[in-house]
Amino acid sequence: MHRVIKNSPAPAVLRPALIAAFLLSAIIQFSPRAFAGLAFDQLNAAAPQVEVPLAPPPQNATEYRAAPGLNVYFVNVGQGDSEYIELPDGKNALIDGGPSSSASSGLARFLKEKNVTHIDDVVLTHPHADHFSGLLYVFSHGIKVDNFYDTRADNTGSTMDDKLRSEVSAQGVNTHYPVAGGTMDWGVPGVDIKVFNACSDPVSASDGATLNNCSIVFKLSYDGASILFMGDAQADVENAIIQKYGPELKADVLKVGHHGSKYSSTVPFLQDVSPQRAYIEVGQNNYGHPSQQAISNLQSVGAQVFRTDQDGTQEITDNGSGIQPVSYRALLPEFSTADATVDNTPDGGPEGPNDD
Ligand SMILES: [Zn+2]
Repeated sequence: MHRVIKNSPAPAVLRPALIAAFLLSAIIQFSPRAFAGLAFDQLNAAAPQVEVPLAPPPQNATEYRAAPGLNVYFVNVGQGDSEYIELPDGKNALIDGGPSSSASSGLARFLKEKNVTHIDDVVLTHPHADHFSGLLYVFSHGIKVDNFYDTRADNTGSTMDDKLRSEVSAQGVNTHYPVAGGTMDWGVPGVDIKVFNACSDPVSASDGATLNNCSIVFKLSYDGASILFMGDAQADVENAIIQKYGPELKADVLKVGHHGSKYSSTVPFLQDVSPQRAYIEVGQNNYGHPSQQAISNLQSVGAQVFRTDQDGTQEITDNGSGIQPVSYRALLPEFSTADATVDNTPDGGPEGPNDD
């Protein structure tokens, strides 16, 4: 067995191995983290006769994309919702921001480790603190946003949703109000977004259910695969959209409504969606989220259920061969719900199972 000694001339027989090591180093630098280890193993298998001090996969890379196609992250933000999307043409989008505007929040840490300084499209599904607070972080820390998608619901129990909207306006960001039955155009070839629910006429309310049911509900389709984002929509909305859209609701992946509460995820709705994978964004809470009923209903239609409080940030990718799970490895320590800094109790009046 030969060993390459650092700083010594390499024998001719070792040059191919050194070239291979250099190439592997380049591959590791520019390839998805998930595949770096695989490339390492394959090269080792291909040249077992020479021991070469190969560089290990990077432990402190600051940015990576899972794959060149569509990547969706269900970010572990504690008790709240936030989904980050890398689009096939390099654009990105953020759906909700979770419960904290702190620079140490789960979302802030996620965006930092990805070096996100610009977001093309930001969606606020509805004006509850466990959805909009993290967007206050986004709009107050120099992250440039091009488009903001909002529902026309004012949370009269909170001033912070007004503050967010004022900030969006002050920064000159285009605000769009999606309409049920319409689309969102993110300008990405091959990506289609159909909107099934929103309050496009103004609503003022403080009760939780009314605001939840103003959630922008939409399905993102790409490459024959689809993901349905439910915000916190409850059974009333589920009933309405299965009447109106039925089979159009079919999706491979479901962002489960309302943190898996017992007021959402009804069986007839789930039968139309028929998701293979269902993601519940949830953290420590007093609401009983997620409910055993919702989990049972999801499983009864064949969905595999994931929850951010137990499974951490979850990631799926579609690079042309359908939606696949990817093992997300936080490059900083995984956010823990124990670290959660929640700005205030969820808006909507006295705390209750409907109110967040
Ligand atoms: Zn919520």
